[in-house]
Amino acid sequence: MVDKVLIANRGEIALRIHRACREMGIHTVAVHSTADADAMHVRLADESVCIGPPSSSLSYLNIPAIISAAEITNTDAIHPGYGFLSENANFAQIVEEHGMTFIGPRPDHIRMMGDKIVAKKTVKALGIPCVPGSDGAVTDDGVAAILADEIGYPVLIKAAAGGGGRGMKVAHSASDLSVALSTARSEAKAAFGDDAVYMEKYLGRPRHIEMQIIADSFGNVVHLGERDCSLQRRHQKVLEEAPSPALNADERVAIGKVVTDAIRKLGYLGVGTIEFLYENGQFYFIEMNTRLQVEHPITEAITGIDIVREQIRIASGAPLSFTQEDVTFSGHAIECRINAENPVTFAPCPGRINDYHPPGGPGVRVDSAVYAGYTIPPYYDSLIGKLIVHGKTRNECLMRLRRCLEEYVIAGIDTTIPLHLRLISENDFVNGAYHIHWLEEFIDANRE
Ligand code: ADP
Repeated sequence: MVDKVLIANRGEIALRIHRACREMGIHTVAVHSTADADAMHVRLADESVCIGPPSSSLSYLNIPAIISAAEITNTDAIHPGYGFLSENANFAQIVEEHGMTFIGPRPDHIRMMGDKIVAKKTVKALGIPCVPGSDGAVTDDGVAAILADEIGYPVLIKAAAGGGGRGMKVAHSASDLSVALSTARSEAKAAFGDDAVYMEKYLGRPRHIEMQIIADSFGNVVHLGERDCSLQRRHQKVLEEAPSPALNADERVAIGKVVTDAIRKLGYLGVGTIEFLYENGQFYFIEMNTRLQVEHPITEAITGIDIVREQIRIASGAPLSFTQEDVTFSGHAIECRINAENPVTFAPCPGRINDYHPPGGPGVRVDSAVYAGYTIPPYYDSLIGKLIVHGKTRNECLMRLRRCLEEYVIAGIDTTIPLHLRLISENDFVNGAYHIHWLEEFIDANRE
């Protein structure tokens, strides 16, 4: 097993990884920007190294600074968390070239799934159903128009290098198509330095359902069930639940088998998430994330498996500590992402937290790195905490969630807690009858 892990991240996920390491007897090294010198992940780690100024490009994305920090602290493995360098194949390769273990998949798999066109082609050949669309990049507007007619409008133009919900444009009819193509290309170029785009059928009212998989270096691949992440704003997840209210046990077993068979054939190592849109009983692959997900705790809640611990064990060369038959799903879990944002306008609201009291009690987990007196810096993502609630049934989970949101005190800044409280009162949410556009429609309807 590795002895010392450098955590190349910040905030709640840095703390989450530190906790897993601590419970495994592994030493931790925190890295931080000058803006994060007082951060909780820095305070709790065994050692810490300042890697640069506030701007992420000069600190949390600064590969030479992170590798130097790892070398001077004699680190033997690096965990990238999510975001930042977690899906950067070059970083994974550089870590390995420096004789350290990258806690994540092999660089070639990260690279393959990072190009969504290659990812789609690869998984399609492995038997995973995909959204109907172009076979590769769309380069010629005339060919695109013929294809769009075949697929049927509306169609979605997506960036091959896309991520974070950026670089997507809908064309509702032939007259919108060339504008959608050129805007998507220029946005993709500006955001990702690559203007390759592809086309997909734009699904009307699907759900976003993703499967968590985990694979060791001995060819064992297990799925840990699905998460329903349909409640989104601007293609970004806001609240997630497991299991999905839309799926039955047979559907779970069937898609689980398709996914694990494909991942086994791929020879993949580590944790990963296969994201699908789900409509009228059909699954359509959209992408694979080759890292730990923000919403992994709801899977941990219903399976009792510590995914980060398992990730570290696998990266150290150990086999999975369970088989598919050992995985059982118990009860229901929901995660609310708590952002430092105005709950109506969604404007970021960094600043000082004057008072802080997280909820507790049975079935409650709060993953957060904030504390009373902490000042949220303005430079990073607005996610400041995740409230994860587990209950024997979905109904118990919902009652507990309401109680926890009412109990949660974060004074001095705006947060999205009031938004969560409003949305969990909605009948559609209570009935599990929602889709990927539901939340935006709800927000628009409540703005007046
Ligand atoms: P990103 O990597 O930017 O997150 P994804 O491909 O994962 O992009 O898609 C993000 C979200 O965009 C999905 O969860 C869904 O809400 C929406 N989306 C993506 N593809 C389609 C599609 N073909 N039809 C309708 N919505 C889509």
